[in-house]
Amino acid sequence: MNPYDPMEIVTQKIERFGILNDENREKNRPMFKGISMFVRSIWPSADQESIVLGTQFFIFSRIFDDLIDSNEPEFGIKLINRAINIFTLGKLEDDPKPYEKNIFDLVQNLQLRVGDQHPLMNLFRIAFLDCFDNLIPWQNMKKLNGDMSMNLYYILRRHNIGTAPTVFLGLMFIVKRLNYEIFLDPLLKCLWDQGGRISALYNDVLSYEKEVRENDVRMNSFHFMKTQNNWSDQECLEFFEKEMDKCFEQYFIHENLIIQKFIPTLQNKEDQEEFYQIIGFFHKLISSLLMMYLKKPNYKSPDSIFVELRN
Ligand SMILES: [Mg+2]
Repeated sequence: MNPYDPMEIVTQKIERFGILNDENREKNRPMFKGISMFVRSIWPSADQESIVLGTQFFIFSRIFDDLIDSNEPEFGIKLINRAINIFTLGKLEDDPKPYEKNIFDLVQNLQLRVGDQHPLMNLFRIAFLDCFDNLIPWQNMKKLNGDMSMNLYYILRRHNIGTAPTVFLGLMFIVKRLNYEIFLDPLLKCLWDQGGRISALYNDVLSYEKEVRENDVRMNSFHFMKTQNNWSDQECLEFFEKEMDKCFEQYFIHENLIIQKFIPTLQNKEDQEEFYQIIGFFHKLISSLLMMYLKKPNYKSPDSIFVELRN
């Protein structure tokens, strides 16, 4: 065993918390491997501790989402309230579940690293609360009939895709010099909102067939645009290309606005470099998500309508 390998450290931690055991090791290996590759890809220059914490973050998000998805809302609400207590009160219940120990450990370590009242720490916690609040309404929307529209979809998907907590965690890893007040600027929110939309559109297209197979396609925009408009796959893809172009256009407009607003206020080269590192992190986040979706084994099928997903 290599004591400096972040993946070994994460594995030891999640074994200790009870997430990983001999029964589920083989089954979960691809998921953990995928997450660890993704973390290294979005934070290529992060230190060992950041890689460990980033991996713990995505492991929690993955397990928690699946748990809420596969349980009745009443039980889901109980789990959500327990998770909220970890983020707001720093309180772990007396009978903690393995994934709760994992996220508690992450929150504690982040606090130790940056301080309990660090603005980015608080933005991270608040972003998580927004995601938690969205889980049950999202599940309810799945059960309702009637047409979805793209604008309603974008609002609901904003927290479902979970961009904001990832962004604030990333900022905690990257920022060493810049003034945190920069990150309260609404222009930055526009940036990750557009990034979230782009990621969601990619996810919907590439997870479409898997969700059809699993009968879980109701909130997939590729699906509802297709059925509501009676479009062929090709017509649907053309719509998605245009939609993505719009999102990318907005994304780059906001990125330029942010650069024009803040770069002239930064006095030295190191600050400016750190600022561009953050801009680069956003790019990596979107491209790494796309790369991950394209590699996901459960998105693939021999006769996929998307050539990229045939295996
Ligand atoms: Mg999907």
